[in-house]
Amino acid sequence: MQSFQPPRRILMGPGPSDVSPRVLAALSRPTIGHLDPAFQDLMEEIKAALARLFNAPDHACVPLPAPGTAGMEAAIMNLLEPGDTAVVCVNGVFGTRMVDMAGRAGASVITVEDAWGAPVDPAKVEAALAGAGAKVLAFVHAETSTGVRSDAATLCALARRHGALSIVDCVTSLGGVPVDAAGWDADVVYSGTQKCLSAPPGLSPVAFSQRAIAAIGARKEKPRNWLYDIGLLMSYWGGEGGRTYHHTAPINALYGLHESLVALFEEGQQAVFVRHARMHEALVAGLEGLGLEMLVAPDHRLPQLNTVKVPGGVDEAAVRAHVLDHWSLEIGAGLGPLKGQVWRIGLMGASATPWHVRLCLTALADALAAQGVASDKAAALAAADALLTA
Ligand code: PLP
Repeated sequence: MQSFQPPRRILMGPGPSDVSPRVLAALSRPTIGHLDPAFQDLMEEIKAALARLFNAPDHACVPLPAPGTAGMEAAIMNLLEPGDTAVVCVNGVFGTRMVDMAGRAGASVITVEDAWGAPVDPAKVEAALAGAGAKVLAFVHAETSTGVRSDAATLCALARRHGALSIVDCVTSLGGVPVDAAGWDADVVYSGTQKCLSAPPGLSPVAFSQRAIAAIGARKEKPRNWLYDIGLLMSYWGGEGGRTYHHTAPINALYGLHESLVALFEEGQQAVFVRHARMHEALVAGLEGLGLEMLVAPDHRLPQLNTVKVPGGVDEAAVRAHVLDHWSLEIGAGLGPLKGQVWRIGLMGASATPWHVRLCLTALADALAAQGVASDKAAALAAADALLTA
């Protein structure tokens, strides 16, 4: 065997995004024990930073030792048990995954379907919740498979009105657009580190409201997964009364998350959101300058995940292969019904810069030209630059 040397890539797909050198440097610092007093100070800082970023001052915030799907699993397995009913919204891949998990938790699941490319429709959710006696409403805030943002404030308010707890998937939204657990009065929000936080994949920050914790305490049976049982987890992460061993924390991964949070707050949350929005507007102007069309209506677009329709006659996979081979640039493919129909271009965290926008437009123009599709690269770059320098 030899040491693995990954190729250098520019990550503009649906995640992971580029990891900054300072986060990579933090990951390589010496490993210490997970009950070391110095490590416990780091844990406290991470909890406080997550509470700030989720705007969840009264929630229990921890990063789970596994990717974003762990947050989904923790939310669903802690809140649902056999005999419960859940309303789950599906407008892309990740809503579908939630339906599967809620069924595995033993709940009766009512699905609310919307088109892939459209946001969750609150009127349909209201109709599904009415008289259903649902314990949970679950939906995806930022659907990475389509690039759509749903109205989390309205959906959480509907859950409250109907006496349901809300679960909000913020895997792609956190750090790219505002997530406001307190303002939405959301019960469980969860995310992943590899999107707009620009840390490597492998951790899932979660926040559980006091109402959710009380509901978990009132369960008839224990949650069916041990690692993500929030009560057991808090015996380690909670800190009150001394920490007891629960699992061996992924020490170095947590150094990386901590550093990415330090960087985010140094830049300022508002500045980070403005940067994502500006890069998105410039990218869209450039893509349209290349003659390409966006899938999602402007009002529902996510700045950090841009879904572009593949023009007729263009080989979708060949374009992705071309930009990877010639520009070392990764962009994403469509999933499910959008397979072969779209590209997904991420502008997440450290990948949301003017340099990335220009590189992506240049590489796409080159890939289209390789297929004999003429596009005006100069006009596209000028359109993007006009917004980048404004
Ligand atoms: N939810 C959403 C909206 C996602 O985009 C993803 C991953 O892309 C997940 C959940 C699952 O996260 P992970 O792949 O880190 O397990």
